[in-house]
Amino acid sequence: MRPKLIVGNWKMNGSRAANAALLEGIVAGLDGARAECAVCVPAPYLQQCEEALKGSPIAWGAQDVSAYEGGAYTGEVCAKMLSDFACRYVIVGHSERRAYHLESSGLVARKTLAVLKEGMTPIICVGETLEEREAGQTFDVVGDQLGTVLELLPLDAVAKIVVAYEPVWAIGTGKTATPEMAQEVHARLRAQLKARNGEAADGVAILYGGSMKPDNARELLAQPDIDGGLIGGAALKAQDFLAIIHATG
Ligand code: PGA
Repeated sequence: MRPKLIVGNWKMNGSRAANAALLEGIVAGLDGARAECAVCVPAPYLQQCEEALKGSPIAWGAQDVSAYEGGAYTGEVCAKMLSDFACRYVIVGHSERRAYHLESSGLVARKTLAVLKEGMTPIICVGETLEEREAGQTFDVVGDQLGTVLELLPLDAVAKIVVAYEPVWAIGTGKTATPEMAQEVHARLRAQLKARNGEAADGVAILYGGSMKPDNARELLAQPDIDGGLIGGAALKAQDFLAIIHATG
């Protein structure tokens, strides 16, 4: 049995005061939680997270990373800096970065390697747009996105990644993939991981993301290949995030 993993993706939200209240609320409500959980926060708040969460069961991480190791790349943050703040997770290839920053799957693959090199866990996001789904291209699109990363990944590193399936049409829209729709894609992604490394694939967490909320989480998380959630909007309210964490198991 893979443990469930619930990760909050705060996106570009928060303030020192709001974060303090949110983190305190989450920590206070964790009793009895069986899922592993983490929050991926804007880089300036990593130190605040480290201070607030050290010694708690909640891990923290970043939402992006540079593919470069350091040096003259103005505005970038490298993996070594994230690991300096004890990040466990780094989201790479979120659809908002692919869409607004024109990140290619090749770049996402290089970022994945940069994260692994520093001993952190990359959460590799894949997902199709509404047009792609309606054109019957879902499996081709997510297969290409994951495949490009897997090509660059050493075989023994397959066990060290997390994959997140996030249909673009479901992100922040209130439209969720049905549990069956999501499971179908997750099973395909698992098969693709298996084809690359048969031993590692069963241990890889594949998260679902896209309008996961307290009222639909239980059904989604009950699917055999849905190992957790990457939560945007509902991760900004302690009560909602906790309800999703407690919907596992
Ligand atoms: P959402 O975002 O839960 O607000 O749809 C999920 C994500 O983009 O990771």
